[in-house]
Amino acid sequence: MIIPININVLGTQVRIKMVTEEHIKSHDKDNPDGYYEGSQQCIFLSEKLDNENLRRVLLHELFHAYLTISGQTNYLKSNQEEALCFVMESWINLFRDSEFVEFMQDEYY
Ligand SMILES: [Zn+2]
Repeated sequence: MIIPININVLGTQVRIKMVTEEHIKSHDKDNPDGYYEGSQQCIFLSEKLDNENLRRVLLHELFHAYLTISGQTNYLKSNQEEALCFVMESWINLFRDSEFVEFMQDEYY
């Protein structure tokens, strides 16, 4: 899977770096998969992730980046931010379902 080096988030270039699981654990012992570092505008992802989890974790961290860059994290407690990122990460799976995509593109819905 090809992962972009940068993603434009609300006009800010967010870098994406693949790093060791040890690097990520040193930042957050509870989540060995990845994290978003706002001070560096960078998403760090574990190089141990398989393709399916890489996509899921990248989406999750991208939502953290959106919330941080847009300033919305100022209104959220950390558990609320996690819940929102989890919901968004799950929500995007709807768009992988072709019947749902066809429904959303139907001009009569
Ligand atoms: Zn999170």
